[in-house]
Amino acid sequence: MVQRLLEPGQIEALDHTAIPRLLLPEARSLFAARAARLRQLANNDIKGIPVGEAMQGYLQLMAAVVDAQGAVAAALPAETFSLPPAADIKLAIDHNMPPLPVNGTRPEAWRTVFAALLDHLQAAVRDQPQIDAVLAELRALDTAQLEGCADAVLAELTEGVHPLHAPFVAAALQVMWTMRAAQLDSPRVQPLVTNTLCPVCGSHPVASVIRIGGQSQGYRYLQCSCCASEWHMVRVKCSCCEHTSKIAYQSLETSEDKLPVEGAADAKQNKANDPSKVARAETCDDCKTYRKIFNQEHDFHVEPLADDLASLTLDVLVSEAGYARASGNPLLWFNAA
Ligand SMILES: [Zn+2]
Ligand SMILES: [Zn+2]
Repeated sequence: MVQRLLEPGQIEALDHTAIPRLLLPEARSLFAARAARLRQLANNDIKGIPVGEAMQGYLQLMAAVVDAQGAVAAALPAETFSLPPAADIKLAIDHNMPPLPVNGTRPEAWRTVFAALLDHLQAAVRDQPQIDAVLAELRALDTAQLEGCADAVLAELTEGVHPLHAPFVAAALQVMWTMRAAQLDSPRVQPLVTNTLCPVCGSHPVASVIRIGGQSQGYRYLQCSCCASEWHMVRVKCSCCEHTSKIAYQSLETSEDKLPVEGAADAKQNKANDPSKVARAETCDDCKTYRKIFNQEHDFHVEPLADDLASLTLDVLVSEAGYARASGNPLLWFNAA
């Protein structure tokens, strides 16, 4: 039996007939939790997601980037993140279109966010010549070049943006979209015709997560790679082609767990905090793709983007088995090449 983390007042409020379809991000806590998680992963402190030395420095750098995202979100005036006119939002929602589309016109303010992000990062990352060099290159980009990078990042293209620049451009765009998504009215936002794209911005999910607590207990959500909104999708369904018949799961065996993961006896099956079930790849034999799924029942602090970034070993395992990644991680662009 999985322990439910509910306060007494929440038990009365619990209504299992009402699954929250859309969980909008809370920007400040999101970035703080993500940065903390990245550091824990970098320290190899997470059972179920072992991190090799080669990856640790990169995760520390991305933790600094996420810290800078949080600092920028808090420091810039609210009007930087103002929503489009209410009539435009209503029109999009009425037509089952995302209200903050990544392929629409971008608010110019994203470049202010980008410049502020570089400032915060420069102050945080000292005495690292390679990082300084990348930051100097990013500062040297003119408006047209920067907008070209943003187009490529948001369209998830590998051409049109330098692989080393892409995570920083993506980070600024994430702040822009996350801060605006947080201001929407979640019950009003409609699911899209295809449930595999974010109903808020139309991006692909970075990974999926099984949530615990309150009305989301045990439900699976896909987390948007751009705006961090989470939308509901039933479990055991392909998050790429939406077929359900040929889904399987693969996980990394942990060093303490000598038994094969799925053969680990019925006694283990429903036990919480099982490291082998924290991070798994959900593979589909209909479209031959996979996405990772992280389970809060087995690690309360799972964070889809951070955990996806840190579990590259799982990508290697699943790609060797013949599955392609359904979509990328915005903070790991050079993986896409
Ligand atoms: Zn989104
Ligand atoms: Zn599929």
